[in-house]
Amino acid sequence: MIGVTENLALISDLLHKSAIEAGRDPADVRLLAVSKKQPLVKIRDAAAAGQRHFGENFVQEGVDKIEALADLNLTWHFIGHLQSNKTRVVAEYFDWVHTIDKIKTARRLSGQRPARLPPLNVCLQVNVDDEDSKAGVAPAALPELAAACAELPNLRLRGLMCLPAIRTDIDEQRAPFAALRHLAEQLRSDGIDTDTLSMGMSADYRAAILEGATIVRIGTALFGARN
Ligand SMILES: *Cc1c(COP(=O)(O)O)cnc(C)c1O
Repeated sequence: MIGVTENLALISDLLHKSAIEAGRDPADVRLLAVSKKQPLVKIRDAAAAGQRHFGENFVQEGVDKIEALADLNLTWHFIGHLQSNKTRVVAEYFDWVHTIDKIKTARRLSGQRPARLPPLNVCLQVNVDDEDSKAGVAPAALPELAAACAELPNLRLRGLMCLPAIRTDIDEQRAPFAALRHLAEQLRSDGIDTDTLSMGMSADYRAAILEGATIVRIGTALFGARN
């Protein structure tokens, strides 16, 4: 069986190649290792091979891992759906939250962020495909949410995130990622500058990088199937 260290080298190489293909600096594409439902030993292996950023979807599982791996000084991203009654622990333990789609959640996170910590980095999740079943702010409501979040003292608005419907054709995969990039460009022209596009997973990272992803979130291709 191929281990995490080998997978990490392979994926880093693929991300690098996609960035070059896109005419971009490979240093501008960060791998977020999605470690949900993966054992601690695999996270330690990835960290030993140089991986610093990890993503978790479930609050309690994430907090348990952050505590168990505190010696490694990793950077933790919350990428799951966040219920408003769970914001306090997320504000206390995580470095990033990618899935904000309501001002209420953002206000709670800002209010609950401990003063000893730097501002919490946040991305706004956008429902780019306008799917009823999906979380995320509607594109039309994004400017208002972004403006409100940018005012919150203990949050740092870093950018946008999306989780599009699954598509297999690369050109079809690119469309929602291009839409997210355009939304970020619109925010910029409204005076809200961001530096992050969190988009692309194991199956569509190449399309995402071609459209400007700065964080790609990869789980199974790195760690293998989840438990
Ligand atoms: C699970 C998950 C991923 C990783 O998915 P893989 O297909 O395992 O690469 C990325 N982003 C989000 C939001 C996820 O929930």
